[in-house]
Amino acid sequence: MVDTRKVGVLGGGQLGRMLIAAANNLNIQVNVLDAANSPAKQVSAHDGHIEGSFKDAAAVKKLAQSCDVVTVEIEHVDTHMLEEVAGQVSVEPSWKTLRTIKDKYAQKLYLKEHGVAVAESVDLEGKGVEGLKDVGRTFGYPYMLKSKTEAYDGRGNFVVKSEESVEEAFEVLGKRPLYAEKWAEFRMELAVMVVKTKDGVLTFPTVETVHEDSICKLTYAPPRNVNKKTAQRAQELAKKAIEPFEGKGVFGVEMFLLKDNSLLINEIAPRPHNSGHYTIEACERSQYEAHLCAILDLPIDQSELGLIRPSIMLNILGGQDTDSHRKIAEKAFALRIGAKVHLYGKGDARPGRKMGHVTITKRTLAEAEVKIQPLVDFVDQMKG
Ligand code: ATP
Ligand code: MG
Ligand code: MG
Repeated sequence: MVDTRKVGVLGGGQLGRMLIAAANNLNIQVNVLDAANSPAKQVSAHDGHIEGSFKDAAAVKKLAQSCDVVTVEIEHVDTHMLEEVAGQVSVEPSWKTLRTIKDKYAQKLYLKEHGVAVAESVDLEGKGVEGLKDVGRTFGYPYMLKSKTEAYDGRGNFVVKSEESVEEAFEVLGKRPLYAEKWAEFRMELAVMVVKTKDGVLTFPTVETVHEDSICKLTYAPPRNVNKKTAQRAQELAKKAIEPFEGKGVFGVEMFLLKDNSLLINEIAPRPHNSGHYTIEACERSQYEAHLCAILDLPIDQSELGLIRPSIMLNILGGQDTDSHRKIAEKAFALRIGAKVHLYGKGDARPGRKMGHVTITKRTLAEAEVKIQPLVDFVDQMKG
């Protein structure tokens, strides 16, 4: 039966909220472990939620005991308790996968070991300011300094532009476990949502992602000015990158399309992902439905994941003003462009925080681009 098993999810942010929106249609109960009134809990009225932190072992255990399958909407979770409960409840994807991926440097090494092309990286833990200068001498400038852990939305990245900016970089990130990546001179960024089921590996279409200050701003499906062959290569690379990771569910694969047309993996997320939001409106099955199908062994087929209509997704990020996201949402309606507005219920905005997103689907990507441009301009204005 579809709706008899309970799903437990670590994390109750916007991804959990959209996962629940999909689960609600199927009458599947999702128990969320996060703070009270988190975005996911707001759209799910039952008494199975757990209040606490997804980093807290006791709370993770309690969640596991309340459901049939445990999954995540964030990778920064306590994987040791997941390892312990894995005998009693399904954990999807595997705690091993989560443990490797949550450390971006360990993830890079693992991918490299499995023959997947990633940006060249150097471990900087315990190396101090001198270590950062050494990297500059080997990689040249700019290079990307990254925190191995607890990184999301660019909070954990610092572009080291020259030897003069090393001190500042260390001041900002020096207390975190660090590694450095060689600068990827990309022509654009691409992403593929991969679905791992009990039967095999499926993919959603290749999309283009545009990041500003290390935060995703826009996605284009299909990507602009990318030929079919390159989009296909991205699909193959995404499958290859996910292949060595154990467990079922949706994975977000971010990659760089370099100027010489080669592809490099940027990073992998073991869960639904910002670059897959467009699937809600643009594909027959959304990434959230696909995730549920994968972890609950419901049938799902490659033929259900294609693009129905070209689409553009625009993130609504918090601006200077605590109300900026509401103004953007109102503008999206005022423009009468048929854009679907999603707000995440996070209360007041903070600069750079993901507060919602907008998806526009049209007959052609060119039409979608023209229609959404005034909203992109408005978003840029709000950012100040
Ligand atoms: P997410 O929210 O996707 O988890 P994150 O905080 O883990 O993001 P990354 O994905 O590592 O951050 O980097 C964010 C963005 O910074 C990338 O999408 C890209 O635009 C830029 N970036 C990251 N690494 C490099 C690199 N080696 N060279 C050039 N640009 C990079
Ligand atoms: Mg990341
Ligand atoms: Mg990323």
